[in-house]
Amino acid sequence: MKGFVELEESYPFDLLEEKTTLNDVIDNRIREHTVEQTERNAFFVADLGNVVKKNIRWKNVMTHVKPFYTVKCNSSHSVIEVLAGLGTGFACANKNEITLVQSLGVTSENIIYTNPCKQISQIKYAAKKGINIMSCDNSVELLKIARNHRSAELLIDIAIADSCEENEMSLKFGATLKDCRHLLESAKELGVQVVGVRFHVPSSSGNMEAYLHALADARCVFDMAAEFGFNMNILDIGGGFSETDGELELEKVCDEIDPLLDIYFPSESGIKIIAEPGSYYVNSAFTLAVNIVAKKAVARDSQDQSGVVVSSVNDEPFFIYYISDGVYGSFANSLYGTVNAIPILHKKPNSGEPVFASSLWGPSCDGLDQVVEHCLLPELSVGDWVIFENMGAYTLEQSAFSELERLPVYCVMSINDWYWMQEVGLTLETSVKNFSCVPSCFQLNQEEGFPAASLSGISA
Ligand SMILES: *Cc1c(COP(=O)(O)O)cnc(C)c1O
Repeated sequence: MKGFVELEESYPFDLLEEKTTLNDVIDNRIREHTVEQTERNAFFVADLGNVVKKNIRWKNVMTHVKPFYTVKCNSSHSVIEVLAGLGTGFACANKNEITLVQSLGVTSENIIYTNPCKQISQIKYAAKKGINIMSCDNSVELLKIARNHRSAELLIDIAIADSCEENEMSLKFGATLKDCRHLLESAKELGVQVVGVRFHVPSSSGNMEAYLHALADARCVFDMAAEFGFNMNILDIGGGFSETDGELELEKVCDEIDPLLDIYFPSESGIKIIAEPGSYYVNSAFTLAVNIVAKKAVARDSQDQSGVVVSSVNDEPFFIYYISDGVYGSFANSLYGTVNAIPILHKKPNSGEPVFASSLWGPSCDGLDQVVEHCLLPELSVGDWVIFENMGAYTLEQSAFSELERLPVYCVMSINDWYWMQEVGLTLETSVKNFSCVPSCFQLNQEEGFPAASLSGISA
């Protein structure tokens, strides 16, 4: 295809020539889908260079924190391969995820098993695969682990004091300080190793208090563990560095927790700090293109699909569009109110074209399947394409073995990003096996600054 670099080896992405943009890729794919009349009328484009840049930024900001990418967030093989090549670890919640990352060359020391409710067969599987570090927040789990995994190394999951009541996660998961004492005692009796503490603040923004409490509690648990003779050495600060509400989420969290870490877990203590970012790495790298499959013009003040009375502007019609993907697919997050989908038109409207009140619905004909409640759009036609950016987190079908069921994901990387990866010695194959030599040039001073691509030794 024009604008693409021919590669001899197989990489999990297409390389884009210097002048080719992500929009060109989307255009090309839309043309293909239109010409071929494929049944699949929705697809993702993933910019893996964006994932690489996120990792650089992580290394610059969270200098002492090793990321374990949370696979449940987006289990695309290419994302995992690139991250593995960059030397991140992986947080897996089940056997499928463990099998997937191991099949892509990730070694067991770089995998942690983090699920509050682990099936016995899967604990055994982790044991067989040499994955020792796992989370635990109650005595039933502890007993299961003690019986089925002799070399387990536990991270005690502590509950976080969450200021948002709506967050049920914090009620369901995590041990209180009192539970912790009991857990440590039982672990001692059962002969299970306890190596650290873990917590997860689901949405960092506006919830900095949660870190304050969590870090203080974590320190308590470290001290308590010492009383029982455990020498804990891992602190896991979870994920939740999502960038949707502003680009500087990571920096904000870091500013907040750095002084606290200095107090509670100073570097001299030798305690290794890790995190489980998910959305941070993938959200902005993925763009979704969907097709308009049906359309209705509704008269003024009539009811929409969910029975809500909608008013149009100045007697003009209100348009309802049905798109090829909805909340039972890539927009599943909308059901929890966490997506604020902003439609971008693929065909740029003429200037001065009138706009109309519109809403966008998924294809299920279900009253919950609303993707965009209200927006102003020029009149669109069936077959037009609509683009949504920032669609990388919790949007793909999450079961690792149903890739065929998923929407196609076209992975690309710009040639400059690729040159740069080569230059710092990151080839995907070798770096997976040899990540410990991740070069110090990762510590760039400029944020997301890439050294200018040099053409030496690279023939495009
Ligand atoms: C889902 C999850 C994560 C990842 O969260 P993001 O917001 O995507 O970074 C990390 N830790 C735990 C315990 C989770 O459940």
